[in-house]
Amino acid sequence: MKVFERIDASVEFSAEERLLIEEVRKLSRDKIAPRAAAIDRSGEFPWDNVNAINMLGLNAMFIPEAYGGAQMSYAAYLECVRLISRACASTGVIWATNFHAMKPLIDFGNEEQKSRLLPLLVEGALASLVITEPTAGSDATGMKTTFHPDGDSIIVNGSKTFITNGAHAKLLLVFGKWSQISDDKAAISALVMAGDTPGLSVLREEDKMGLRASSTATLAFDQCRVPRSNLLGLPGEGLKILLGSLNKSRPSVAAHALGIARAAFEDAVDYINERKQSGRKIVEFQGIQFMLADMASELAQCEAFLWYVARMVDAGANDFGVESSMLKMRASDIAMRITTDAVQLHGGYGFCKDYRVERLMRDAKITQIWEGTNQVHRQLIGRSFLKK
Ligand SMILES: Cc1cc2nc3c(=O)[nH]c(=O)nc-3n(C[C@H](O)[C@H](O)[C@H](O)COP(=O)(O)OP(=O)(O)OC[C@H]3O[C@@H](n4cnc5c(N)ncnc54)[C@H](O)[C@@H]3O)c2cc1C
Repeated sequence: MKVFERIDASVEFSAEERLLIEEVRKLSRDKIAPRAAAIDRSGEFPWDNVNAINMLGLNAMFIPEAYGGAQMSYAAYLECVRLISRACASTGVIWATNFHAMKPLIDFGNEEQKSRLLPLLVEGALASLVITEPTAGSDATGMKTTFHPDGDSIIVNGSKTFITNGAHAKLLLVFGKWSQISDDKAAISALVMAGDTPGLSVLREEDKMGLRASSTATLAFDQCRVPRSNLLGLPGEGLKILLGSLNKSRPSVAAHALGIARAAFEDAVDYINERKQSGRKIVEFQGIQFMLADMASELAQCEAFLWYVARMVDAGANDFGVESSMLKMRASDIAMRITTDAVQLHGGYGFCKDYRVERLMRDAKITQIWEGTNQVHRQLIGRSFLKK
């Protein structure tokens, strides 16, 4: 395991970041991991975990000081996502979604919006990123939700599906189309809606294969009146905001996937060092060593690439969309492969719920689907090499 310890040790964090990461490590190990199997079975939303995360004031780590936060590096944020997800993938994504949803407000909001809304997040509000609709998934530009200006308000009508934290969010970053702009793409706009806005309702929550304790909601907007002051940027600037924010949330999705992958890899290594067949430890068989070599090499390379992208972002890079796509695609494919192989290495026991790898394999699947399916990312990456 030395190779992974060395990769972990190669990431530079400040003394303050190390302290916080240590707190998150302890919380994940002592509180979050022990609850993970039970909430996976019950599908119960893990308020205990959310409250414990808020006791650490963890949202503050991605919010600038000027708005009550205590901002740390993007690398430190990714490490916290990875640690929490390694313990419980549901809890990892519940917390990371706060970042995915509110980073656009930090990057594109005006001073008044940030001063008014970001302190709520510092206090522990949950947030949702609200893009997908029943008929607009991979092609989000096909969304039909409308934003209609009405004096100092915007009236929102439509529906959204698969919204993480949707049933519990205090703040929702909603994308829709400005009714006065006719061009389909140029009409996309973004606003922040309060979770208690009249007319906003939760129609259903999904019963899912994995991430069973996270809330995935279908929302309806029926004449929801939102203050015009909650519009991010200008009408029609939504697509720019959407693409900019996805570039920052995709490495976070990769950190989530790599947390799951690391947990599965560690469980597999422990198991094959214990389990014996034909009088030998399973790890002594060459066929098993070949599997392990592929799992370890792919995981190590992808973890190193995670920190490479983190350093780019922390250095202030703006053009890292292709790297984000590569990272998200590769990390999620590896998470699926390693969790599947980890189940295989457990033999029949891996198929049973007594062993964590069964849950990890189910949790890993979504990472290939959301924040752009991996088919879409392959297209984005391939297209980037087209010569003009
Ligand atoms: C648990 C969960 C949580 C989610 N959380 C959120 C959230 O918080 N906010 C939010 O807005 N959304 C969320 N989503 C939605 C998620 O991002 C979408 O499911 C995803 O973008 C895919 O859209 P779709 O499901 O409509 O599939 P479709 O777009 O219908 O895709 C179906 C299949 O067609 C393929 N396909 C589609 N277009 C192309 C193409 N151009 N080229 C090649 N293949 C293509 C896809 O790869 C896929 O295999 C969540 C989904 C789930 C399941």
